[in-house]
Amino acid sequence: MPTMQADFINEQQINTLLTEARQADKAQARSIIDRASQAKGLTPYECAILLHIEDKELLEEIYRVARQIKENIYGRRLVLFAPLYISNHCINNCVYCGYRRDNRFTRRRLTTEELQEEVILLEELGHKRLALEAGEDPQNCTIDYVLDSIKTIYAVKEANGSIRRVNVNIAATTVENYRLLKEAGIGTYILFQETYHRQTYAAMHPSGPKHDYDYHTTAMDRAMQGGIDDVGLGVLFGLYDYKYEVLAMLLHALHLEESFGVGPHTLSVPRLRPAQGVNYDNFPYLVDDAAFKKIIAVLRLAVPYTGMILSTREPAEFRDELLTVGISQISAGSCTGVGGYQQEHQRKSTGSCACASGASGSNVKGSGNYGSSASKSLSDGSATSSINSSNGNSSSISDNGNGRDNANNEAPQFQIEDHRSPDEMLRSVCLSGYIPSFCTACYRSGRTGDRFMPLAKSGQIQNVCQPNAILTFKEYLMDYASPETRAVGEKTIQTHLAEITNIKTRRLTEERLKLIEQGQRDLYF
Ligand code: SAM
Ligand code: SF4
Repeated sequence: MPTMQADFINEQQINTLLTEARQADKAQARSIIDRASQAKGLTPYECAILLHIEDKELLEEIYRVARQIKENIYGRRLVLFAPLYISNHCINNCVYCGYRRDNRFTRRRLTTEELQEEVILLEELGHKRLALEAGEDPQNCTIDYVLDSIKTIYAVKEANGSIRRVNVNIAATTVENYRLLKEAGIGTYILFQETYHRQTYAAMHPSGPKHDYDYHTTAMDRAMQGGIDDVGLGVLFGLYDYKYEVLAMLLHALHLEESFGVGPHTLSVPRLRPAQGVNYDNFPYLVDDAAFKKIIAVLRLAVPYTGMILSTREPAEFRDELLTVGISQISAGSCTGVGGYQQEHQRKSTGSCACASGASGSNVKGSGNYGSSASKSLSDGSATSSINSSNGNSSSISDNGNGRDNANNEAPQFQIEDHRSPDEMLRSVCLSGYIPSFCTACYRSGRTGDRFMPLAKSGQIQNVCQPNAILTFKEYLMDYASPETRAVGEKTIQTHLAEITNIKTRRLTEERLKLIEQGQRDLYF
């Protein structure tokens, strides 16, 4: 079958919108922000106007409305998850990625036993929701291997629980394979577009199946045809002009809604990180912290009903700040290498430096690292190659930044920035006034796709999100938390319980909290 053309992404249309939006004045911008507070979303033109805003006062207004929308729709809860890398075999050559074909290191995929060990370790951290990650290699990482891995993950049970939702982030594939993934019981199918700009896409993906822009960009259409109704979009910010990318992602979301009656379940906003063999000189569009915050807030206004995911690519303090402008899901305690949780576990138990996964940041730190402070000097999405100024080091960060070849090492896909354990992170989430959630109820209760969207759009989803956050967090406190986190967490539960306005729901939640104290698990609305 010929590949469907991704004509819903029209470069000329996006550029025209961005050019025309420059004419808008402050009053126009303010009225768009006012209207956005009704959580009805933005048109692409309105979105373009907000993306151009540099005025501090207007930006503060956008942040305020983004926070209000997120809290009105989802409440003050934050869903937690962890990535799980099952294979780093890859036949693509994405220039930004540590797993790309030309990088020399020992490739591998997890055996069933290794996978079980990884899952146990993740369960012992309290996780209930995983994002399965793999490179693309039809020989070494077949669809059957992925399906078997999903089965294994769901089957592994630690003393206090199991993984209840496996989201999957694997390469674009066929309708038939999406159908198999659906049958295997996945939660969301996630695929990052990386960049919507054709020319940049071609340069970033010089070879391998991922080189085909149309095939990649229409993957979600095939996923929907294969019966997957929860899909997650994402852009790798730093590859091309962020304003173009945000508008294109919005057009993609609108296309899915028009074609299938349901928009994306989530949007991810990964930002480019140092990785083996990645030379920042090739990336003139790196996004600074201020622009990144604006991206998240504008997306929250543009697609109010959509979950927004932030990963440990961002440093702890900045992550906490971004929670206030619309993020609804975060990863915690992440390792971005195959077998990374086992290595991290060994490192902790022996006190040695075994983890190459980036969880500890131990042996992959070094030159070229740009965290939030360093990236402050970067451009605002315009084409100025200023990465060199971030830390006075303009070199490529190949060889893991330490000058050594990595041929015999496990390699992380990229470096992470937030090195807190889940326990520390949960405490910090509580102290910021939010409640951590390990909820997986919607997809297990059939509230997916077009059944989920009306609930989210009307804000009714909050009536189940808030109690489910309380119940799943209570399980965490009972089964996994440190004494400090338990103390802070119990107070958080009381605060959020008192905020449930429906008296019947509040009573039911209180009753279920008691049942959890008595040893019952997995109670949800
Ligand atoms: N291999 C599949 C693919 O490329 O679609 C699955 C996902 S890959 C394991 C996960 C994602 O990591 C990629 O989609 C890419 O956006 C992101 N990634 C790769 N290199 C990165 C880097 N240097 N910094 C931040 N994110 C990166
Ligand atoms: Fe392979 Fe995905 Fe990395 Fe590209 S981003 S090199 S496809 S793992």
